Amino acid sequence: MRLLRSTDLALRVLMRLAVTGDSHPTTRDVSTAMDVPYTHTAKVVAELQHMGLLTARRGRGGGLALTEEGRTASVGALVRAFEGEGDVVDCEGTSTTAPCPLSPACGLRGALRRAQEAFYATLDPLIVADIVAGPTRPLLLGLSPKP
Ligand code: SF4
Repeated sequence: MRLLRSTDLALRVLMRLAVTGDSHPTTRDVSTAMDVPYTHTAKVVAELQHMGLLTARRGRGGGLALTEEGRTASVGALVRAFEGEGDVVDCEGTSTTAPCPLSPACGLRGALRRAQEAFYATLDPLIVADIVAGPTRPLLLGLSPKP
């Protein structure tokens, strides 16, 4: 199973903000520190703001800050929200592909669904604060925006 780039980026943004304390980096600060394009970061930041996981203030003294909801957000719930509810394989086809001929009675489909649920179940109990603990924290703090 491979995560969408936006899912990984959302987690990176939250991880970065989880260690910044009272300093509030801008979206550009986060994008350069994480070495990802500004436009992708801005899109993800807007989505996280909409979900209530961070605040974004413009102007002098502004910047991004994690909300309490963001700090305690379940990693599994966040990944589900960004990945959507779809199956890992598109058995029913799309507007450009035909349905799989095995879909009416496939022995693999159920196993893949259970594997997908096990994947999320592993992430569900983790919160953002958990994934910045240990050596990850100093690593995140050492990431400064590139000139
Ligand atoms: S083989 Fe089974 S799991 Fe794979 S696409 Fe076909 S119906 Fe879906």
